[in-house]
Amino acid sequence: MIQVQNLVGGKFVTTDEVFDDISPLDNSIIAKIPRTKNVDDVVEAAINAHSEWALLSIEQRCEWLDRIADSLQENIEEVARLEALDTGKPHEVAMNVDASRSVNNFRFFADFGRNLKSETFSMPDATNYVMRKPIGVVGLISPWNLPLYLLSWKIAPALLMGNCVIAKPSEITPLTAHFLGKLCTEIGLPDGVLNIVNGYGPEVGQAIVEHPDIKAISFTGGTATGKIVAATAAPMFKKLSLELGGKNASLVLDDADLDIAVPGVLRASFLNSGQICLCGSRVLVNASIYDDFLNRYLSELKNFNIGPVINVEHRNKVMSYIELAKEEGGEILAGGNVIDKAGAWIEPTVIGGLSHKSRTATEEIFGPVVTIHKFETDEEAIEMANCTSYGLAGSVWSKNKGRQVAEQIDSGMVWVNTWLHRDLRVPFGGVKDSGVGREGGLWSIGFFSEAVNICVMED
Ligand code: NAD
Repeated sequence: MIQVQNLVGGKFVTTDEVFDDISPLDNSIIAKIPRTKNVDDVVEAAINAHSEWALLSIEQRCEWLDRIADSLQENIEEVARLEALDTGKPHEVAMNVDASRSVNNFRFFADFGRNLKSETFSMPDATNYVMRKPIGVVGLISPWNLPLYLLSWKIAPALLMGNCVIAKPSEITPLTAHFLGKLCTEIGLPDGVLNIVNGYGPEVGQAIVEHPDIKAISFTGGTATGKIVAATAAPMFKKLSLELGGKNASLVLDDADLDIAVPGVLRASFLNSGQICLCGSRVLVNASIYDDFLNRYLSELKNFNIGPVINVEHRNKVMSYIELAKEEGGEILAGGNVIDKAGAWIEPTVIGGLSHKSRTATEEIFGPVVTIHKFETDEEAIEMANCTSYGLAGSVWSKNKGRQVAEQIDSGMVWVNTWLHRDLRVPFGGVKDSGVGREGGLWSIGFFSEAVNICVMED
């Protein structure tokens, strides 16, 4: 049994009250998690550490990020093991998606920091110098689907820019954040620079967002929670980055190369049991190739290996959408059932025959459930892709028209003939109900610093 602890000012501590971390593979208890409600101590620890951390040069902080990356790399098998244990995902997904990207997040921002150019703007009689100052203490809140991948995506640029961090992993998947905390203390990261607190979102998450000395909040999670976070933080004028839900479309145009599109769309549909905010849960296919595409998609689905969903509560939510789909007139083309064993298993499910405006096709399900729809023209496909309140991501599969169609989709990111092909320098984030702000490369640097201008008059 793992005892998860909070990391506060370099010390591991717990709370009187703890709760269970349950395995989605078989419902066994795998860890005990502190139920933190108050963050005053941890904010004080972070404030105490801040002055020295902020005084380091950016090169020195880049060295720290590299040391964290080295330590994670040396322990990558353990990171993948813990992530697979906590989330139930297959080991190869935990290794190739979660663990390797967590290392890359630190490595990427170390390299990026070394190559940051100082900005100046010359006037005929003066020069403007742009300084990027640390914000201070920042709160980082993340979800359960890609636990360390998403938390380290925030921790690395926050530390790089000279901030001290209070990180809160999801209460459903705290193991890898706890492990990261251990590695950081082993390598001697100064006490209080990275703090990790555990507990329920409405308790410790809310306490972080409400605390007046935490000056910025980077939040990744559901749209409903994002609204609460925004309502709490906005009147305090905190910097706020919100990466929220999605209901992304994969558009298969009439000139798609099906040898690429079928495996690509399948991966976008079901990787991580469909529990990635970028997953393509609506598959839109040109009528002229619909039957061919569907036959090949359903046939390749039989060989696609997925794990359970995150827990039984979430499984019940996903199953309720499959029932709703039936009520809305949908036809189950594959799956549709709970897998009868302990844990939170559901068959990968494909549903046809629904209106693209139905609730099943427009609300975020966040599981291994895909609706498939037919369209006649590219204009119709674009209209269908844009008809939800979300606007996070999407993909277009086409030999000749991909970019042109992609530009008309109201989403923060669109891939053409690929999916989840990530360059960490590019802006990442959503439009509409999928969020506010961008992370990645310069956008993360901008968020985790205060840009100030010094205008010097020439003699
Ligand atoms: P969630 O919103 O329930 O929880 C996310 C985090 O917020 C957790 O750590 C939780 O404890 C915390 N939280 C809950 N209430 C809070 C409050 N009042 N104040 C502060 N923090 C609070 O989301 P989830 O179920 O963990 O994750 C799934 C959702 O995340 C999906 O909607 C998915 O689309 C979204 N997501 C978005 C992205 C993105 O980059 N846009 C990436 C991954 C997941």
